[in-house]
Amino acid sequence: MENYICETCGVQYDFSANEPEQCLICNEERQYVNPNGQSWTTLQAMVETGDFRNNFTQDEPGIYSIRTSPNFAIGQTAYLIHEDGYNMLWDCITLLDSPTIESVKELGGIQAIALSHPHHYSTQVEWAEVFDAPIYIHEDDRKWVTRPSEQLIFWSGETYEVHGGLVLHRLGGHFKGAAILQWKNSHLFTGDVVRVMADPSWASFMYSYPNFLPLPAKIVRRMAEQLKSVEFYRVYDAFHRTMRENANEQIQKSAQRYIDAINGELFST
Ligand SMILES: [Zn+2]
Ligand SMILES: [Zn+2]
Repeated sequence: MENYICETCGVQYDFSANEPEQCLICNEERQYVNPNGQSWTTLQAMVETGDFRNNFTQDEPGIYSIRTSPNFAIGQTAYLIHEDGYNMLWDCITLLDSPTIESVKELGGIQAIALSHPHHYSTQVEWAEVFDAPIYIHEDDRKWVTRPSEQLIFWSGETYEVHGGLVLHRLGGHFKGAAILQWKNSHLFTGDVVRVMADPSWASFMYSYPNFLPLPAKIVRRMAEQLKSVEFYRVYDAFHRTMRENANEQIQKSAQRYIDAINGELFST
């Protein structure tokens, strides 16, 4: 019996004797199946190759980013956020090896894990079991969980305070239960529910990034309206891009540009 991992999206599945027939996450419009065919690995196999390592970077006091090198699957960044003796892992990455466990323990372990959306579920249950931490996922994304666990807590409604200073907001858009994390009324961790662009004074919002499928204008308008009432000035996204100052204003401006573009009012071509 193994917990197989899809090599395209990095998401791990429940125990099975054989490889799953297909990947739930990759077989829909927001992702894609590898054109060379569905392929699987395991965490043990990944560790045994010795090809991958996780790099920790302290971005600022209280924030560490964790990224796998070379990139594996989607290549997202996880963040370890330290709030008054309490560590939250925001989003997750597939590689969990001994050096990573040691590094996280040195930083105080993990008291809670929260996920923005299914593309980053990766080996969340492995992380939860090693650090004995609950995993917070919005209940509207429950059907995308491919490895069940007693560590999973499905929260409901529009906001959920996991711990003082760490508040989840369901923003929707990219996924129905897509969530963002607000830290201390100053920082927002957005996964790819809100992406920071090459020029980090701009953001964008997509249904599918690999397939360039945009969200409808009315959904982006609603997301921007919801963010107006959330206090923050800095954004970290899933690919370690940062909007450093005035992020709420920049996101409002970005949403308007997006809506104008979708409605054919930004340019003629
Ligand atoms: Zn997959
Ligand atoms: Zn995604």
